[in-house]
Amino acid sequence: MALVSAIDQMENTLPKTISILGSTGSIGCNTVDLINHAPKKFKVQALSANNNVDLLAKQARQLNARLAVIANPNLYNDLKNALAGTNTVVAAGPRGLIEAAALPSERIIAAIVGAAGLAPTLESVRRGATIGLANKECLVSAGALFTEEVEKYGATLLPVDSEHSAIFQVFDFKQEKKVEKIILTASGGPFLNFTKKQMSLATSTEAVAHPNWKMGAKISIDSATMMNKGLELIEAYHLFPVEEPQIEILIHPQSVIHSMVEYIDGSVLAQLGTPDMRTPIAYAISWPERMETPSQRLSLAEIGTLTFETPDIDKFPSLLLAREALIAGGSAPTILNAANEIAVHKFLTGEINFLDIAENVDKALQNLTITNINSLDDVISADTEAREFASSIL
Ligand code: NDP
Repeated sequence: MALVSAIDQMENTLPKTISILGSTGSIGCNTVDLINHAPKKFKVQALSANNNVDLLAKQARQLNARLAVIANPNLYNDLKNALAGTNTVVAAGPRGLIEAAALPSERIIAAIVGAAGLAPTLESVRRGATIGLANKECLVSAGALFTEEVEKYGATLLPVDSEHSAIFQVFDFKQEKKVEKIILTASGGPFLNFTKKQMSLATSTEAVAHPNWKMGAKISIDSATMMNKGLELIEAYHLFPVEEPQIEILIHPQSVIHSMVEYIDGSVLAQLGTPDMRTPIAYAISWPERMETPSQRLSLAEIGTLTFETPDIDKFPSLLLAREALIAGGSAPTILNAANEIAVHKFLTGEINFLDIAENVDKALQNLTITNINSLDDVISADTEAREFASSIL
């Protein structure tokens, strides 16, 4: 017994190996920041970026990473030169991302944006990894196929999204039938109090400027349309043992209560905190323990008032589209996600107006045939078809 606890203690003091897929993004940089605050706790294995060679090389040098991968294969030489004289192995392209995901790190942070993260995240799943999942789009896109692989290979998913991290922390998995509902809170984004007319004229700068959270461009636009909450609804359905009608969405503009679970006795358990992604990321990288974070502490006395309201589906139709796609099943969530990624890109490049984003997604769902998803190839084909369709909408 004494020997076992001595070994346990030793293991707790050994640094945990960790890889970050998408280390140069908003979630990636917050993860790196936490590692820099606790350098003895972690040993970095792989880091990856899409195009940002300079930041990736800087992170790899600073953290002495074993492997650095640039997804854009044309930038391989740039990264190689930037890391000359270090021990970091350099790789590029889709195969490089798979290599990064396959390294036997004790923790993987899946923080690539969009369905581009699906193949590498699935690779980590298939080696039974413990994954801090930020990349909700890969779960939305592949749905049950993804969670079946998690089950089959004995992988562990730890939510990074603040809402799902909150639910994970207050969900009683030993009494799952005693859960009446999950209440996903939503800030409502920058256009909560805009009229539809104002929304139709919104610029990408206004849409990206989230009132509470600093995030990457894609998720910021998703928050403004509230498609982010729609994707989170589908994410919650796959992460927790509840049915679709048991997941409620509630507007809470202060982003203090990160989500709640209501039980059959009327008790509602919530997790609260300041809007700082380092708190849920810290839980995902240190689970089942907790680690210190530099996040600002919550002062409810200073905040004073917490408010709540029901979402306006007319202003935020993406919420309904996501719920309908979840109910329809098959390739509907894949189509929803792919069409949304294209529509967000078109809005950011000025091709469509803000309200067209949800309209384009709706058109894709109305016009494309919903098929069964039995394999990764089925996901890829539904995703490709939806991207082509959404790109062709004028
Ligand atoms: P960012 O856009 O800030 O970062 C995305 C990361 O993925 C970057 O490292 C980027 O590299 C890399 N990347 C982008 N495209 C590709 C590609 N095609 N192939 C490989 N790598 C790619 O996104 P966020 O950090 O905001 O979001 C990441 C994920 O986390 C999303 O799924 C988002 O929904 C989720 N999430 C984010 C939150 C946040 O606070 N930001 C909160 C909750 C969830 P490069 O820098 O070179 O472009």
